Amino acid sequence: MSKSKVGCQTIGCRVTSCAYNKSGQSCDLDRIEVEPMSGCHTGEACDESLCGSYKTR
Ligand code: SF4
Repeated sequence: MSKSKVGCQTIGCRVTSCAYNKSGQSCDLDRIEVEPMSGCHTGEACDESLCGSYKTR
């Protein structure tokens, strides 16, 4: 049985256009939601794993 990592992870992120990005290296949020593009089932990472917590600067 694996140990829960809820509340114990850090979020590395290089999306500098996001308001929550810190120095092009990490996310300031405690938690993010990763979600697929709406109505898209390609199996490609760029479609299936978007940051749903993104907010433009
Ligand atoms: S909300 Fe998402 S895109 Fe924005 S800094 Fe955090 S992980 Fe990156």
